[in-house]
Amino acid sequence: MAASGEPGRQKQEEVAAVVVVGSCMTDLVSLTSRLPKTGETIHGHKFFIGFGGKGANQCVQAARLGAKTSMVCKVGKDSFGNNYIENLKQNGISTEFAYQTEDAATGTASIIVNEEGQNIIVIVAGANLLLNSDDLRGAAGAVSSARVVICQLEVTPAASLEALTLARSRGVKTLFNPAPAAADLDPRFYALSDVFCCNESEAEILTGLPVSSPADAGKAALVLVGRGCQVVIITLGAEGCVMLSQSEPVPKYIPTEKVKAVDTTGAGDSFVGALAFYLAYYPSLSMEEMLRRSNFIAAVSVQAAGTQSSYPHRKDLPLHLF
Ligand code: ATP
Repeated sequence: MAASGEPGRQKQEEVAAVVVVGSCMTDLVSLTSRLPKTGETIHGHKFFIGFGGKGANQCVQAARLGAKTSMVCKVGKDSFGNNYIENLKQNGISTEFAYQTEDAATGTASIIVNEEGQNIIVIVAGANLLLNSDDLRGAAGAVSSARVVICQLEVTPAASLEALTLARSRGVKTLFNPAPAAADLDPRFYALSDVFCCNESEAEILTGLPVSSPADAGKAALVLVGRGCQVVIITLGAEGCVMLSQSEPVPKYIPTEKVKAVDTTGAGDSFVGALAFYLAYYPSLSMEEMLRRSNFIAAVSVQAAGTQSSYPHRKDLPLHLF
């Protein structure tokens, strides 16, 4: 759409279609030959810092596909926080509602990975847990004028519930990713989810059912849809995903490409970010087609190392996805 020069119109063009209310975490990764025992100090052979946090990951993937995005989040007033905000900007994400606080450090995930790929992870959510009602009130205009709002569970459940409630009251589509999952998830999350998207282990925790095949996922999705979400999607790693909706309560299995996976970390967030992009920009596609395309994009992400560093940009993807 060409800018008209009229201020109101200009403003319209700046509105973010995908708004993520969620987490930013700095990943501090040490590679070692083995994991240390209690009280032991060992030498690692490589260290790197990465950008993570489910909220920001999902936002970055949506932005790289071409979505106008805004991140509602809180980081510390520290070097990790400054760097994180710069990272969001580099990805073309609006940081108008990326708040900074002196009361806690930027969220971190300290990760030790051994040669077998086994890991020990300590997450300190820090500033993420200080995202509060005042912050959400500041971002209410952005949430209300979005096409899709995404939430997860790495900020407080209260903040996520508030964002989803506002979005729902304004007719904005809600995409909820219940991660990390807890068996006692507040039932309001189901009712507030237009799309409820989780992975196999989250589906197991939430339903108490074993989920290790598309058939199992179909059964778990039936339970979840019964709790009030409009559409349930369960991702199944290399198997793709299963969907089920209130309007068509028969599970549909959407397989994905066979690819050579290099690093599957963050694949779920790539999938959710891609799905938000399609919900916002291609609302007339069938949900099945959106999921086929989201599977494709997440499958690209597993073929490169890292989390956000593995997420593809629109220019590197086949035209048939757009
Ligand atoms: P993570 O926790 O690593 O971010 P997740 O467990 O939340 O991932 P998965 O179900 O493993 O999510 O993967 C999400 C999506 O990514 C899958 O539905 C699929 O589309 C894609 N995917 C994941 N692993 C593979 C793989 N090995 N080959 C192809 N696609 C994959």
